[in-house]
Amino acid sequence: MKEQATLVIIKPDGLKKSLTGNILTRLSETKLKIIGAKMVKVSKDLAAKHYAHLKEKPFYSELIKYITGRLHGDNRVMALVYWGEDAIAKVRKIAGATNPEEAEPTSIRGAYGRILTSGLYENVVHASSSEEEAEREIKLWFEPDEIVYPLYPIKEITLGRVKKKVWK
Ligand code: UDP
Ligand code: MG
Repeated sequence: MKEQATLVIIKPDGLKKSLTGNILTRLSETKLKIIGAKMVKVSKDLAAKHYAHLKEKPFYSELIKYITGRLHGDNRVMALVYWGEDAIAKVRKIAGATNPEEAEPTSIRGAYGRILTSGLYENVVHASSSEEEAEREIKLWFEPDEIVYPLYPIKEITLGRVKKKVWK
């Protein structure tokens, strides 16, 4: 077994249903370490990059509406990076199958997910499904400084005239 990082996203339905605490408690059963966590306002651009591989699927446009919060009237999600032995499989097991109807009833998706009349699986959480996917997704959602472990190689760049918001 190998130490791995994996990305978890609490999707807009998870936040709308006030499930953050329940989900984090369930995930703590894994004994994995949280090494990054933040609230994210999901833009269409971020959503399209995250789900780029599903672009041809019939549910794609509904899925983008879902993850950008337009189905729930709130565009926040919580993004987390978990780290530890066999992290990807451990988190996927607790998350449950993609289709909430097929997911173990005690899994997060089995307990809290539902299928919309449009057919979309509103399944509360995202979890990376391979090391390649985890690396791509973590690099997409997090800056190097937002993760407390040096997960992947970094480089330093100088941004001459770039404006940045700082606290007054
Ligand atoms: N999805 C859906 N219908 C499908 C397959 C996927 O609505 O037939 C949605 C669902 O919200 C899922 C997301 O698209 O979580 C991404 O799909 P993927 O196949 O990557 O499933 P996951 O990795 O999230 O289990
Ligand atoms: Mg997936």
